[in-house]
Amino acid sequence: MRIDGLSINLATVRAQWSLREAVAACVRHGIGGIDPWRDQLAATGLDDARRIIADSGLRVTGLCRGGLFPAADPAGRAAAIDENRRAIDEAAAIAADCLILVAGGLPAGSRDIAGARLMVEEGIAAILPQARATGVKLAIEPLHPMYAADRCCVNTLAHALDICDRLRGDLGVVVDVYHVWWDPDLTRQIARAGRRILAHHVNDWLRSTTDLLFDRGMMGDGVIPLRQIRKLVEVAGYGGPQEVEIFSHAWSRRSGDDVLATCIERFRTVC
Ligand code: ZN
Repeated sequence: MRIDGLSINLATVRAQWSLREAVAACVRHGIGGIDPWRDQLAATGLDDARRIIADSGLRVTGLCRGGLFPAADPAGRAAAIDENRRAIDEAAAIAADCLILVAGGLPAGSRDIAGARLMVEEGIAAILPQARATGVKLAIEPLHPMYAADRCCVNTLAHALDICDRLRGDLGVVVDVYHVWWDPDLTRQIARAGRRILAHHVNDWLRSTTDLLFDRGMMGDGVIPLRQIRKLVEVAGYGGPQEVEIFSHAWSRRSGDDVLATCIERFRTVC
């Protein structure tokens, strides 16, 4: 029986499988959805990737990712906007529920985080018409503040929702437990987000984290109150799948089948 409430972000099994193999494995394990990355589409070829995904019957809970707007000069910012327009077209081609936006960090040499945040907002505003024309929803994913310099200067749900409030349009947020679990304002901001929650990513925060990027935990192995956050998200109006997204050296050394079987088991027992 297919588990419609569970989706796998394909970064989770990137080390083990190609896009084609990962899609086949998700179908084999009865998983309901996937969220591929743009480089995985490119490696397979967009047309083939689109066909593989469409034939699988899997729901596409997102495409990772657009964003990365800040740049040192206008040409760099324009290039980022063009790249995002291509990402929107790819999200439309694979019928993704949304395009995930990770804002981007500070341009090299900059100490101006307020300026970077302004570039993010201007960048999103610039691509909204294309999103509207193609029917692709844009999902801003706030990342944990430890990434503010190099990856993402939108670090709280409150900030992401402020941007949504200002820009309007087909715009919402991702609630990734890894990035927001620590926020004392989480309950209120999830309620405020309401139906603007476009995706819900799950994993866990290990009490002693050894790597900023590649030490995410499997659900149940860390300190995040997964069921509690899930309840908040559902009460707010999100009815879609939980998407497992784990970047981890430890899990990338396990077999892909082992990873997926564990995701299913933890989804059933702790999510
Ligand atoms: Zn995420």
